[in-house]
Parts: sequence; C-alpha cells; structure tokens
Amino acid sequence: VNAEHVRSARDAVEAAFPETVEFLRELVQAQSLLGNEEPAQQLVERRLKRLGFVVRSVELAADNVARHSESGIPLILDGDRRSLVGRLAGAIDMTVALNGHVDVVSAEPLDDWTRPPFEGVVEAGRMYGRGAGDMKGGVAAMMLAVEAARAVGPTPSLVFQSVIEEECTGNGTLAACLAEPDFHAAVVGEPTEGLIRLAAPGIIWARIILVAPAGHAGSSDERPNPIETAFAVIRSLRELEDELNARREPEFEAFSKPYLLNVGALHAGDWPATSPGRAVLDVRLGFPIALPPQRAQEQLKTAVHRAAPDAEVEFRGFRARGYSLDPKNTVVRLLRECHADVHGFDPELAATRATSDLRYFQPPVGSGAAAMYGPTGGGYHGADEWVDLESIMDVATVLALFLLRFR
Ligand SMILES: [Zn+2]
Repeated sequence: VNAEHVRSARDAVEAAFPETVEFLRELVQAQSLLGNEEPAQQLVERRLKRLGFVVRSVELAADNVARHSESGIPLILDGDRRSLVGRLAGAIDMTVALNGHVDVVSAEPLDDWTRPPFEGVVEAGRMYGRGAGDMKGGVAAMMLAVEAARAVGPTPSLVFQSVIEEECTGNGTLAACLAEPDFHAAVVGEPTEGLIRLAAPGIIWARIILVAPAGHAGSSDERPNPIETAFAVIRSLRELEDELNARREPEFEAFSKPYLLNVGALHAGDWPATSPGRAVLDVRLGFPIALPPQRAQEQLKTAVHRAAPDAEVEFRGFRARGYSLDPKNTVVRLLRECHADVHGFDPELAATRATSDLRYFQPPVGSGAAAMYGPTGGGYHGADEWVDLESIMDVATVLALFLLRFR
C-alpha cells in the first residue's frame, strides 16, 4: 500500500509540474522586495483560488500585530501591505497550515550575477533568480503538494499562509497566525536541502548612529572621526559575540560559532578633505535561545556604549526569539516517515544559524507541532541564487504524502 501511495502521489506531482515551473518563473519575475510584495501576492492569490482556497487579506499594520510581544519593528509603515491566508475545507476533521514567504532581499551587487536576477532562467535543472531558492521554490512546492494530494485522496483542511516581511520582521506570519490560529500542525517550506530544520538562535537588528562635528581635514586631529569610532564599536560587538559563543546550547553542537554578528551596512562620509559628521552602522546579532530578545538588546547597547558612550542605538526589524522545536512533535514524526518512503532513508534533523518564521509555530503564538522542510538551492542573499527543480518535485511528493496521511 505504501509504495502504491508514493507512486500515485509522484504521478500527480509530475502531472502538475510544468504549470508549477511556469508559476515559479512568474513569481521570480515579480520583484517582491520590501514594500513591493503585492504583485507576488496577487500571483499567489490567483493560484490559491484556482486550487479552491478561500483567500483573505491580513494587514501587517493591524494593532494586534504591532503591539504583540513577538512582533518585529517595522522598517516601513505602508498601511495596506498584506499577508494572505487561504482556507480550503478537507474531508478530514484536522487542519494543516503551510507557510511560505514571497518577500525577497535585494539582489545587490547586481554586477556579481552571471544570470539576470529577476527572470527565472532555467539551466541544467536549476531555476536562477533572487528568491528562487529563498523561498519562492518552496511556495511553489507546497502548492504543488496540495494539488497532487487532492488529486489522489482525502486530505485534512488546509490553511495556506503566503506572507511578507519574513526577511526583516516576521510580522507577516505573526499576522497570519493571529488571524487564523486554528490549525493542528504547520510546515514552513523554506529551503532545507533534504533536511528537517527545527532550531535557530534569536536574532536582533540594530542601527548605531555616530555623530561628531564635521570639519576640515586640515584639523582632523582635533575631533573624533565617526567612521573610526564605528570600527571601535564593531570590535566591542565582536567581544560580545565571543562571550555569547563561549556557552553554546546543545541544539548548535554542529557549529563552532552558532551566534553570529553580521556587520550589514556602514554609511558614512562624503569627501577626502572633510572629516565626517556622521556614520550609520547596521548590524545583526545572533544570540542563545535561552536569552530573551530584550536582554540581547540590552547587552548589545552596553557593548556599543563601552566603545562609544554617546552613540545612539536604534532597534529596528528583527527582535526574534530563538527556537527549538521538539524533534518528536507530530509533524516531524510524519514528515520523517513520508521522506523515508519517498527517498529510502531517514532525513537528518538540523539547526540553522539564521532565524525563520518557524519561531511563530512555537508557544506563545503556536502549538509547537511544526517543522521546516523544503527544496534544495543555493546562493541565498548572494549572486546567482538558484533552486533545484527536481527537489521541488521531491518535496511536493513528500508533502503530498504528508497531507494524505495526516490524521
Ligand atoms: Zn526565507
């Protein structure tokens, strides 16, 4: 019976695959950078409706999102930017949520790309483009799974969350979960390269603003230089990073350094003959699961002020709690079984050093019955990002089985 099940799921996936690739190409062509996610959401909405979903819009600017303890700090405040929540009634009295984000990060520096970043070029079984891997390929794979499962047999009821702001606040998923909290299990279709991912550190973002009186280079030894102060701040933050990594949590045994500081941007200066009046430093800090985001913010602020007592520290974007879902939760157990039936081996369980919206499926927002499982790709946030098209079929087959077996 198992082999037959796998065969019919795979056949249904293959039948719907060409249309899925076309959909994915259009989705990659929709340049859904922060603030411009709507064209991508409209493509997803249309396809969800074709699959039979009733779709509602959920606004990120809603009060219950902005005031929620687990929310991120918005980088932009555009009133009607939305996540989508689709609902599809099933034959089984249980509900499974599928979560994917359509927002993508900038493709800069564009000169590094050897293929156009927003065309969805297919070459040797890979589709290239910003967001192809992270994670429009996963969105396409989950929709393909729904289509295939329903062609084969009865499924649970489904909630499909197509969200925005995964890359900066998480508020898209938070809004979707608050709007439609009634589901028993959730799968986040981020790329996992054949693994199941369950844990990640906490992540905060901060902007550090350093000012000094600007002046002529001929008297530059008479005043502090904000660019050079920025380097002192970075050194102090590296010391904090070392302290945090001195005590690794067991989830991150595979990493010698699980909690990473990233210096993401430094904007400063105009002209060689002027000592600058201002430097703006954007950083991202990873920290232990056990450390609440607010405590991490305090530690970061202290480290900045150790090097630059007058620096202004502004928190924005992520203030994400770390997470570690139970490897024995119902979703992981069934996913492993389905993966093993399709591939012939048990998938590895792993952690990452980057956060994801999976954190919202643990308490206090979610129940903890959840996992991250998606296609294989590469070049995430870099040049020539890609997704392996065959892996979309594999993931869709496993997820279709998952839906057919979920009770
Ligand atoms: Zn992602």
